Amino acid sequence: MSNGKNRRRRAEIAGAGIGGLTVAAALSARGWDVTVHERGPDLRTFGAGIYIWSNGLRVLKALGAYEEATAGAHVGPLFETRDHDNKVMEEIPINRAGNARLITILRETLTRSLINVCRTNGVDIRTSSEAVGATPEGALLLADGTARAADLVVGADGINSAVRDSLDLLMYRRHLGYGAIRMLIPRAEGDVAPADRDKYIEHFSGSRRILYTPASASDLYIALCCAADDQAAMTVPADRALWTDSFPYLSDLIARFGQSGRWDAFEVVKLKRWSKGCAAVLGDGAHAMPPYLGQGGGCALMNGIGLAVAVADAPDIAAALEAWEARERPLTEHTQEQSERQGDMNYWPDALRSQVLTITGRSRELAMQRLKTAMHVPTGTIEAI
Ligand SMILES: Cc1cc2nc3c(=O)[nH]c(=O)nc-3n(C[C@H](O)[C@H](O)[C@H](O)COP(=O)(O)OP(=O)(O)OC[C@H]3O[C@@H](n4cnc5c(N)ncnc54)[C@H](O)[C@@H]3O)c2cc1C
Repeated sequence: MSNGKNRRRRAEIAGAGIGGLTVAAALSARGWDVTVHERGPDLRTFGAGIYIWSNGLRVLKALGAYEEATAGAHVGPLFETRDHDNKVMEEIPINRAGNARLITILRETLTRSLINVCRTNGVDIRTSSEAVGATPEGALLLADGTARAADLVVGADGINSAVRDSLDLLMYRRHLGYGAIRMLIPRAEGDVAPADRDKYIEHFSGSRRILYTPASASDLYIALCCAADDQAAMTVPADRALWTDSFPYLSDLIARFGQSGRWDAFEVVKLKRWSKGCAAVLGDGAHAMPPYLGQGGGCALMNGIGLAVAVADAPDIAAALEAWEARERPLTEHTQEQSERQGDMNYWPDALRSQVLTITGRSRELAMQRLKTAMHVPTGTIEAI
C-alpha cells in the first residue's frame, strides 16, 4: 500500500496485549509495515478465561483469527446471577436466535490467535522491548534510547501506559475499591448441580462474588471478587475456609481451588483525547473499565480494528485519528458507564440486592442497555456471527 509517495506506511506499537495485537493485525492486513514492542520477555499470558461477545467475535472474524480463537471454546446456554441463597436473580439469554452470542475461551488461546495472524501478515513482534513514551510527530521512544520514527505510533501498553502519560493525555484514573482473583482449575463433576454445569453463573454474597465460567471442555475459569480492602479475601492462594463461609453451597468447588491466582484491582481510565498528532492510545491505557460486562477486551478489539480502518489510506493521520475517536468513543464510554453501574450493588444488603435484581432482571430496556455493546456491529466488520 502506498500513501502517494510510493512507500509502505509504518506503524510502531507498544504492547502485545489484545489491543496492540488487534491494531497490528488490522494495519498489516491493510498493507502497513508494523512493529510491535512488548516489554515482557515472552508473549505468554496468565492463566484465566475471557468472555467474548458478538462484537468481539465479529472483529476476530474480520481479522482472520476467529477459527483459531474459538476452537474448543465453551458456548454456554445462559448467564445467571444468583443471590446469597443460590436463588436465580437474573437470567441473561445468550446464543439463541435474536440474542447476543457469548463464548468463553482461555486468554492464551485468544492471544495466540492474534499473534498468529500478525505473524502471517509479516508483523515484527519484539519481546523485551519496552516503550517509555511517544512524540506527537510520530516516534516511539524505547527504554534502550532508540526513537522509532513512524507514520503512526500506538500506545497499547495497558493500564499504566507510558505512551499515554508521555503525551499528557490522562483526564483521570479512578480506583473502584474492588477487584478479583482469577484462576483456572480443571473442570470436574460435582462442582455445581448437573443442570448448572455448562452455564455461566455469577454468585453474590455480602460484598463478595464468585464467577463460575467453563472456558473449554476441561478448563474452569474462576473469578473471586471482593473489596480491595477485604484483605483476607483478596489473598492468594485463596482462603478456602473464608470463601466457603460466604458461599457454603459451593463448598465442593471451593475445596478444589488451587494455589495459584492473580489479583487485579478494578479501575476506570478516561483520557482528554485518544490521540495527539500521529500518536494514539487504545485499550486499557485509554478506556479501562471494571469487567462486569466482560467488554474491556471487546472494546480493545473494536477500537483496534476501528483505528486501522480510520488511518488505512488517510492522507492526514492526525485528522484520521480524531475521526476515529469521534466514531468509537461514545460506545466505549457507554460501555464504561454500564460496567461501572454493575458495581453499584457490591455493598447492598443481600436481601435488598436480591429483591432489586429479581425485578430489574425482568426489564428488557435495562438488558438492552447492558447488551448494546455486544449487539453492536463494529467498524470494519460486516459478516454475521
Ligand atoms: C478481572 C478481570 C476480568 C476481565 N474479564 C474480561 C472479559 O471476560 N472479557 C473482556 O473483554 N475483557 C475482560 N477484562 C478486560 C480485559 O482483560 C482488558 O480490557 C484487556 O486485556 C486490555 O487489553 P490491552 O491490550 O489494552 O492491555 P493489556 O492486556 O494489559 O496488554 C498490555 C500489554 O502491553 C505490555 N506493556 C506494558 N507496558 C509496556 C511498555 N512500556 N512497553 C511495551 N509493552 C508494554 C504488557 O506487558 C502487555 O502485554 C477483564 C479484566 C479484569 C481485570
